[in-house]
Amino acid sequence: MKRLPAYLQLLRVLDAEGHEYVSGTVLAGTHNLEPVIVRKDLAVTGIAGTARRGFKVRDLIAAIEKFLGWDNQAKAVLVGVGNLGSAVLGYRGFDHFGLRITGAFDADPQKVGRWIRGRKVQPLRQLKSFVKRGNIHLGILTVPAEAAQAAADLLVQAGIRGIWNFTPVKLVLPEEVATQKEDLAEGLAVLSHRLQHLVR
Ligand code: NAD
Repeated sequence: MKRLPAYLQLLRVLDAEGHEYVSGTVLAGTHNLEPVIVRKDLAVTGIAGTARRGFKVRDLIAAIEKFLGWDNQAKAVLVGVGNLGSAVLGYRGFDHFGLRITGAFDADPQKVGRWIRGRKVQPLRQLKSFVKRGNIHLGILTVPAEAAQAAADLLVQAGIRGIWNFTPVKLVLPEEVATQKEDLAEGLAVLSHRLQHLVR
C-alpha cells in the first residue's frame, strides 16, 4: 500500500504527457522493483494489464485512487499549529492525495484567532462542533508529546475516526479508531546507518 502513491505520481506524469498505456516493466524499472512485485501490488486495485500493452494509464489512476479512498476528498482537522503543524498546513500537495485540512486548532490563546497558512486558528472548545458540522473523520496530531494523549482523546470525543499521529507518543485509542504514526527519525536511522558504510 505504501508503494501505491509513488506509482500514482508517475502515472499522473505519464497521463499529463499523453501516454495511454504503461507497461509493468516501466513501472518496475522506474521504482527499482521486480516486475512481479509491481504486478502483485497493482492486483489489489482489481486492474489487470494486458501482456502486449500493459496497463491503461487512466484506468489505473482511477483504480488506485479508489482503492486508497482518494477519489473522494477527505476533510481533516489539525491540532497543534506549531513548527510542524504550520508546515503540514502549508503543504499544498495534499490536494493530490485526497486530503483537505479544513480546520486548525491550538491550545495557545496567543495563536487562537491568528491566520496561519490560510487557516484561522480555532480554540479547542470549538473542535467538537466543527468536526460534527463538517462531518470530518480525520485528525492530524502535531502537539508536543506531553499533550498528545489528551489531544487524541479530544479528537475521539469529537467523533474523529482516524488519527495521523506525528507525535512520538504511542496513543491508546478505542479499537474503532484507526491511527498511523509518522516518524522522520525512522527514515533518518536507515540513512545514517547506510552513511556509516559509505563514509569510512
Ligand atoms: P511546537 O512546540 O512548535 O508546536 C506545538 C503546538 O501545539 C504549539 O502551537 C502549541 O501551542 C500546541 N499545543 C500544545 N498543547 C496543545 C494541546 N493540548 N492542544 C492543542 N494544541 C496544543 O512543536 P513542533 O516542533 O511543531 O513539534 C510538534 C510535535 O511534532 C511534537 O510532538 C514533536 O515531537 C513532533 N515531531 C514529529 C516529527 C516526525 O517526524 N513525526 C518531526 C518533528 C516534530
